[in-house]
Amino acid sequence: MLTLKCPYCGITAEETELHAGGEAHLTRYGPDSSDDNFETYLFTRENPKGVHFERWRHSHGCGKWFHAARCTLTMEVFGTYSAQTTKPPQTILDAITAKRPGWSWRDLS
Ligand SMILES: [Zn+2]
Repeated sequence: MLTLKCPYCGITAEETELHAGGEAHLTRYGPDSSDDNFETYLFTRENPKGVHFERWRHSHGCGKWFHAARCTLTMEVFGTYSAQTTKPPQTILDAITAKRPGWSWRDLS
């Protein structure tokens, strides 16, 4: 079972106490953007076999949204962090690179 530590209240919660919110760090486009950009925002998502950045909500706890970096293949969690960021913290990027040499952050924002 997936367990994630809420970065706000510090509780390590099982995924049944959390709510998945999809991909993190999406570039948001509004109705005034081009059709292609708006379509990409609405429908295009990463689906990697490996490192993925996700939004989660501590729905049975503090109720706040946060981000998690984890491997979809091994379920290894590299860390969780505030959702109020445009990119993952450097400490998490370093942790991923240490375990996955050659991996690099693809800026999705
Ligand atoms: Zn919490």
